[in-house]
Amino acid sequence: MINVSHCKGKKRFITFQPDNPGMAIEEVREFVEKEVGRWSNEIDRRNLIPEQLLREMASLGLFGLTIPKEYGGKGISVNGFLEVLELVSKECPSIAHVIFLHSMAYDILLKFGSDGLKERYLPEIATGRRILALPFTEPKSGTDLAAVELKATREGDFYVLNGVKTLATNGIYAGLFVVLARTREQEGHKGLTLFLVEKEDGVASTEPLDLMSSRGAGVSILKFENVRVHKNRIIGSEGKGFILAVKGLALGRVPFSSIAIGIAKCALEEAVKWSLKRKSFGRPIFENQAISFPLAEIAAELEAVRALRDELGTRIERGDIPVAEASMVKLLSSELAVKATRLAIQVMGGWGLSSSVKVSRLYRDAKALEIAEGTSEAQKMIIARQLLKKYKR
Ligand SMILES: Cc1cc2nc3c(=O)[nH]c(=O)nc-3n(C[C@H](O)[C@H](O)[C@H](O)COP(=O)(O)OP(=O)(O)OC[C@H]3O[C@@H](n4cnc5c(N)ncnc54)[C@H](O)[C@@H]3O)c2cc1C
Repeated sequence: MINVSHCKGKKRFITFQPDNPGMAIEEVREFVEKEVGRWSNEIDRRNLIPEQLLREMASLGLFGLTIPKEYGGKGISVNGFLEVLELVSKECPSIAHVIFLHSMAYDILLKFGSDGLKERYLPEIATGRRILALPFTEPKSGTDLAAVELKATREGDFYVLNGVKTLATNGIYAGLFVVLARTREQEGHKGLTLFLVEKEDGVASTEPLDLMSSRGAGVSILKFENVRVHKNRIIGSEGKGFILAVKGLALGRVPFSSIAIGIAKCALEEAVKWSLKRKSFGRPIFENQAISFPLAEIAAELEAVRALRDELGTRIERGDIPVAEASMVKLLSSELAVKATRLAIQVMGGWGLSSSVKVSRLYRDAKALEIAEGTSEAQKMIIARQLLKKYKR
């Protein structure tokens, strides 16, 4: 059941019912087809999501989908959320990336934050009044998270943060930041702590980085210069930042795979439709097995990856943190997105390279998925570690 009412600004407001996520998905589908589809090329060109669209997303509840209702969220299931991200990504992976990153950051707060922090911030987060960023990566450390240098120096009840974060999704939109900082020198990963930092504390963002992918996802460099944060805004406790960050990243890899699955699915659909219409030597190119067999392979891999994602969604819903399996689905889905978009361009021939064709944009967006949220190599390290644990005697 969906309750459609009007909030103050006469905006449509949808109440998601967790017991019937199918209908909520239909409403999102309508929004995606009408609004997101209309804007996606413009977002890519301008490297920015228009404020009007961000407000529309907020009023639809897209910034609080899995936040419990008691905090003002929609309280939908993990699997419902996976489906929403896939739908959005089919039209605009950058918007899916914005929603995903925001949710990964609030999940860390939900799972590991104090009651005080949750009560204070989750209602603003759920309504999209404060969009979240999760700046972990620094100019000198990405894959090696334990090498984070941004300094948090204790001064009485406060910590003073100094340093630079880079490649932060939502960096230009964010009003709140889950920051991994170094509270102790020389102690490797045990010297790291997670802080919840408000924009007003003094975080400065550059303009969005001019990347070839994820344009519009607000990816920027963040500067912290004498940013004072009260000790109450530590998530978890001092020295536990690394372990909480690793858990948060693992949980995020399953929804992240939905972005890749959305891209792969869209590329497959576009390629099949094109190959049925496009004729060469008097017949549709689909009738050549050189065209239809690789498409069939993508279809098979897509089903397998979706099944793994849904299974992991169910496990996460039960409270499990399937670290190695989350890396598996992230690795497979992002590589599939690249493979599917590359094939779609090949099937479309020269026209597939046109900037006005959807698959050329999706190809650029797919490539980022093999790097963001931990590179493919980083996922293999995690999976290999599990193999070692399992089989080494
Ligand atoms: C679109 C986009 C959005 C992003 N958003 C965020 C965000 O919101 N927050 C955030 O914190 N970060 C974000 N990132 C950064 C991302 O997490 C890092 O780019 C990624 O973790 C890799 O780090 P790096 O770029 O520093 O590469 P490096 O760590 O320098 O790695 C360079 C290369 O070496 C490989 N490599 C490194 N170590 C090893 C090893 N031991 N064995 C084998 N190969 C290795 C890597 O796989 C990679 O191919 C984003 C990145 C992109 C592209």
